[in-house]
Amino acid sequence: MASAPTGRFAPSPTGRLHAGNIFAYLMAWLAARSRQGRVVLRIEDLDAQRSRAEHADAIMRDLEALGLCWDGEPLYQSARADAYRAALEEIERAGGAYECFCTRAEASVQSAPHLGEGGGYTGACRELGAEERARRAEGAARAGRGAAIRCRMPDTAVCFTDIFQGVQRVQVRAGFDDAVLRRSDGLFAYQLAVVVDDAEQGIDQVVRGFDLLASTGKQVRIQQLLGYEQPVYGHIPLFVNSEGRRLSKRDGDASLDSMLRAYGSPAAVIGHIASIAGIIDRDEPATPHELLSIYDESALRQRWEGCVSVECR
Ligand code: GLU
Repeated sequence: MASAPTGRFAPSPTGRLHAGNIFAYLMAWLAARSRQGRVVLRIEDLDAQRSRAEHADAIMRDLEALGLCWDGEPLYQSARADAYRAALEEIERAGGAYECFCTRAEASVQSAPHLGEGGGYTGACRELGAEERARRAEGAARAGRGAAIRCRMPDTAVCFTDIFQGVQRVQVRAGFDDAVLRRSDGLFAYQLAVVVDDAEQGIDQVVRGFDLLASTGKQVRIQQLLGYEQPVYGHIPLFVNSEGRRLSKRDGDASLDSMLRAYGSPAAVIGHIASIAGIIDRDEPATPHELLSIYDESALRQRWEGCVSVECR
């Protein structure tokens, strides 16, 4: 890429940061700064029930304490409904969306379980005739439900070169991958918001966990519907616990507080995380700036290509 990139931190304020989040933001920061790029912050607080302002504040304090500073003002998704509405209308005008009246249980179909993909959509509301649509709409209204809006995905393979995973071919399936753009309760959904905000914030480099690789195909399709440029993606291994379960903010796994107690200083926490991930060989304190001076993306690609998870010790 010719110009300096803009990367991002996109935390959901549902708890304190854990080691896996810190690893993701460290990598986003290193990948952007190693190209003299900017890093912007977005608070993904679309879901008011799960998000808390105090978690957002704590995440920002923690990032600063860790030396993971961002540029400019944070963008709060909770303040962006007008932008999401406008984007949704554009997709609807292009025939790229349809109403879905299914309950959550009716909507979901399981796929072969693989990481980050619990299942997909049955496609039940995708090709409704006018009569059947009216019947379903009435049924949903009687049950006190509105309609969700889904994106009409084509059967296609989205190909891109991932910074850490190399050449990727993500299959998008019509029906099964028809992502919710607006939920039946009226909340705009992650897949729409992330695409609109990545474009709004000028993000052309997205570094995040391996679990979101499957979402990338859907996001690229939504970008195409909205005429946006496709960012460069880099998917990094997930931190898992000793049972192989992904760390979670809500479960308080490997929280920054507990790591600070165990390792003593922010630099010791960063050094520990960098050593788990194989960025440095020895578990010793390191600041993000120190890691920047030894950052070697092609070595990391070799190490992480095809690597889904690493155990957080
Ligand atoms: N908000 C998401 C998270 O905290 C990240 C989404 C993304 O990077 O696209 O896991």
